[in-house]
Amino acid sequence: MRIHDVMVTLRSDMPTWPGEQGPHVEPLKRIARGDSSNVSLVTFGDHTGTHVDPPVHFVEGANAIDQLPVDALVGPCRVIAYDEEDHISAKWLASANVPRGTERVLFKTRNSELWRDAGHAFQQDFIALDETAAHWLVESGVKLVGIDYLSIEPFGSGKIGHPVHHALLRAQVVIIEGLDLRDVAAGAYELFCGPLKIAGGTGSPARVFLVER
Ligand SMILES: [Zn+2]
Repeated sequence: MRIHDVMVTLRSDMPTWPGEQGPHVEPLKRIARGDSSNVSLVTFGDHTGTHVDPPVHFVEGANAIDQLPVDALVGPCRVIAYDEEDHISAKWLASANVPRGTERVLFKTRNSELWRDAGHAFQQDFIALDETAAHWLVESGVKLVGIDYLSIEPFGSGKIGHPVHHALLRAQVVIIEGLDLRDVAAGAYELFCGPLKIAGGTGSPARVFLVER
């Protein structure tokens, strides 16, 4: 059994979505200063690094991070390699031989290579899903979809109302963004995704493991 840890490390110099704060660690107690223990206050935007989007991220009043169905977060998963330069479309998915009944898919694109430099500046030209791909996944019965950069939909989609997030989140599809899939080959895995259980939370970083049997 091999376990792949596909969460990016939370660190102060990591790239974040424009306008959102990355991790900040403030010492509360330090043994080196004479305290009995080491304790810190950690703050970060709830869509920092590898993180989960719950429905409430785009749908007011919908399920928050603590209300996600746990059966979507754990179970068999396909990592799908995508080497093209356009965004992922329904047309491409229809030809990708995704096995029938697949409920969890993670897309490994050229984005993953960006994590080679953990302190790189945020990139706008990442690969994402287009609206047709989001509808294809919903219609195929997918319960969880992940991508290897900070949004599941192309940068600048605010102008057209974030149709990819809306299509997925309205269908209760769990979204994982910011995965580091550099060292993971395409294929079948068991997924374990653990976002923090924050009451009413609008997102959360998540430790994500892919287990290869
Ligand atoms: Zn997000």
